[in-house]
Amino acid sequence: MILRRVIKHFRNQEWTAIAIDFLIVVVGVFVGLQVSNWSNAQQDRRDETAIIYALHAEIVEAEELASNIVGTRTRYANIIAEATNILFGLAPQRELTQTECTSLTYAHVLYFGRTILPSLERLQATGRLDIVRDTDLNSALAKLLQRQKALEFTTTLSAGAYDIGHLYPEIFEISSILMQSDTREDLEREITATCTAKSIRLNKGLMADIAINADTYDAFMRDGLLPWIAQIQQVHRQLDLTLNIQHAKTTQ
Ligand SMILES: [Zn+2]
Repeated sequence: MILRRVIKHFRNQEWTAIAIDFLIVVVGVFVGLQVSNWSNAQQDRRDETAIIYALHAEIVEAEELASNIVGTRTRYANIIAEATNILFGLAPQRELTQTECTSLTYAHVLYFGRTILPSLERLQATGRLDIVRDTDLNSALAKLLQRQKALEFTTTLSAGAYDIGHLYPEIFEISSILMQSDTREDLEREITATCTAKSIRLNKGLMADIAINADTYDAFMRDGLLPWIAQIQQVHRQLDLTLNIQHAKTTQ
């Protein structure tokens, strides 16, 4: 329609009319773009609110799940470090306890479980992290993604660690026991190991493997798990600020 009019004006050399036709097209396109931008922006705002609420729910869940695991891993890390110090003469010499022998045989396990926040993964996968406009929250989320990568990397370090319970069966006596569970009514199955500091020290290969395992576990805690959980807590604080949520101290 407008094209036919433009051609007619062109043939008749009606330059003013041509200029007006041109203006109509430009204004039309401009208004169309503005409406489309506005509608995209409205959609982004709706998505932003929904995502922030979803993220909060996911982070509360992740923090609860993680607190148990972080507690267990930290306990293991301390016991492994202490046992390794005793074996290498970095702490006063004494016999190793059953808990220390057991922890040494577990030192190659860097399992952590689920670390993914589905809403954050989706934002990243679709390149829409920018719809979170709060700059503090946005950078906290970006940093969490980095920490997650680092945690995933440090768990892969277990490939270079040694399953010493399996490699040195003559030194670690492993048994299966049933223990009263802290959290459940029924009995829980656990693995326990006994060993002696003297027999370990006499085996140079085992001493080297223990040194490597202790170093790997330390890297897992220092570069993977602890920075990750700290960032989870940081993101939670930012989300609480954004959503104006206050938790009772016991559930925080
Ligand atoms: Zn909260």
